Amino acid sequence: MGGTFDPIHHGHLVAASEVQSWFDLDEVVFVPTGQPWQKAEREVSAAEHRYLMTVIATASNPRFTVSRVDVDRAGPTYTIDTLRDLAEVYPDTDLYFITGADAMAALLGWRDHEHLFDLAHFVGCTRPGHELDEDALQGMPTDRITLIEIPALAISSTDCRTRRSRGEPVWYLVPDGVVQYIAKHDLYAGAAHDRH
Ligand code: ATP
Ligand code: MG
Repeated sequence: MGGTFDPIHHGHLVAASEVQSWFDLDEVVFVPTGQPWQKAEREVSAAEHRYLMTVIATASNPRFTVSRVDVDRAGPTYTIDTLRDLAEVYPDTDLYFITGADAMAALLGWRDHEHLFDLAHFVGCTRPGHELDEDALQGMPTDRITLIEIPALAISSTDCRTRRSRGEPVWYLVPDGVVQYIAKHDLYAGAAHDRH
């Protein structure tokens, strides 16, 4: 599951857990992006903060792990590179790329999208506020895509950052350890309110 995770929240964790259970996956690897090319116009927190929050949030689940492949690769993060790196780390493994409805609909705009489906099966999770129009999937190989309805959690990282910048709580939107990490490092105090 790739994401900016700025910060990771319970929407990400529920989506990962639902997909793990649906496909009976051995492991869900959370991959925080390095420099996200789609978010170039806003300030993204340091990769190390996002990586550590992801580790804190996933530590208690024996099937959840975190990969540094994108954080450690220089330059903007492209999913094609993520999948190629993961295929090396996990040879002879069926890879599933978990993503939200908003990202799924944009997939054809991703770099080398015609090769993405050779590397992984794509799982698009429903997400409140982002209706997935099946027409958006036209041109994609439907046998390599599954859409999954997950319990609706209208949580986004943007909202968490906005709440912090207004002095509002993020308790119960993100795991407790992440609330404490955000406070300890004073993240998002003056965050911009733009949404992606
Ligand atoms: P931002 O508001 O900064 O864009 P975000 O909440 O969208 O943050 P990302 O790190 O951009 O979080 O998301 C990573 C992946 O998780 C994306 O594929 C996104 O669609 C998916 N996702 C995020 N929030 C949810 C949610 N509440 N339910 C289902 N999927 C989600
Ligand atoms: Mg997003």
